[in-house]
Amino acid sequence: MFIARVGLGERVAFAVVEGVDAAGIPAADATVEILQSHPFGELVTTGESFPLTDVRLLPPMIPTKIIGIGKNYADHAKEMGGEVPAEPICFLKPTTTLIGTGDVIRIPWQSEHVEHEVELAVVIGRMARNVKPEEALDYVLGYTVANDVSARDIQKRDGQWTRAKGFDTFLPMGPWIATHLDPSRLALKTLVNDDVKQDGSTHDLVFDVPALVAFCSESMTLLPGDIILTGTPAGVSPIVDGDVVQCVIEGIGEIINTVEA
Ligand code: MG
Repeated sequence: MFIARVGLGERVAFAVVEGVDAAGIPAADATVEILQSHPFGELVTTGESFPLTDVRLLPPMIPTKIIGIGKNYADHAKEMGGEVPAEPICFLKPTTTLIGTGDVIRIPWQSEHVEHEVELAVVIGRMARNVKPEEALDYVLGYTVANDVSARDIQKRDGQWTRAKGFDTFLPMGPWIATHLDPSRLALKTLVNDDVKQDGSTHDLVFDVPALVAFCSESMTLLPGDIILTGTPAGVSPIVDGDVVQCVIEGIGEIINTVEA
């Protein structure tokens, strides 16, 4: 099942998206079935249905926290000049980084080197505290596509990542949450102006999704809607004014964002 958060004029609602194929591509006649409430319990629709093309796709969740994981693909750790860490490296991104597909990534004046990072984003479905890896997937609502946009010059200069990864618009996410996926072997890609820059698989995660959910839950209680960004594969590259950035994950779909200085 695919669950979106949609804008209908002034109104915002969660909705089930019907008419999306197994690759995550919507049919021309795809629809959204509006939900009465949030998607964490039993899903009850209001009976309202709209063409997908008539609604705005918003970031599919507004979480209480967004936990990023650094250097979680060996090939990316290497391109950043580092080693794979012994345990996951966690950082937080503010919720004000979130934008949806179709929104604009704004390059801040403070940076001259901003890069894309396609990532599988885990959406937590139930409160999780000290869960074990074997049970971790029971606490996951589903998965979505994220771009952990990063100001590389500031990241190096600051010595930690809060500001470099925390600028407004630095987390395009969407287009919806896929609730049915096995996250262990999904192809993920970034294209900039139709050129393939990143082309990886979640099979190459150093710490897999169950390990990350368990690890994070040992430090902080995970609440419904919270997001874990699982890290990015090799191929990160600069994005500049006018670029079109497309992040795609097999079985979920794609987000497309233009870049403005
Ligand atoms: Mg990242």
